Amino acid sequence: MKPAGVVRKVDQLGRIVLPKSLRKRYLMNEGDPVEIFVQGDHIILERYRPKCVFCGSMNEVHEFKERYVCGECMGEMGFLKR
Ligand SMILES: [Zn+2]
Repeated sequence: MKPAGVVRKVDQLGRIVLPKSLRKRYLMNEGDPVEIFVQGDHIILERYRPKCVFCGSMNEVHEFKERYVCGECMGEMGFLKR
């Protein structure tokens, strides 16, 4: 992990502004969901990517009945139906 060279103050509501250069670089647009992770004393922001409800995979994830399921688990469910 390396510093981005940016220092921002947290406002009264706990908000910070991500610099435009970082938003552009990390493809974060207005309204995009961001997931917050913590690791020790670090707070990490990532563009939210849906994960499979069964295995947690982020590969080939499809929405099914308002849940996210990966291709591999969908395949296994198809296998169970037979
Ligand atoms: Zn899965």
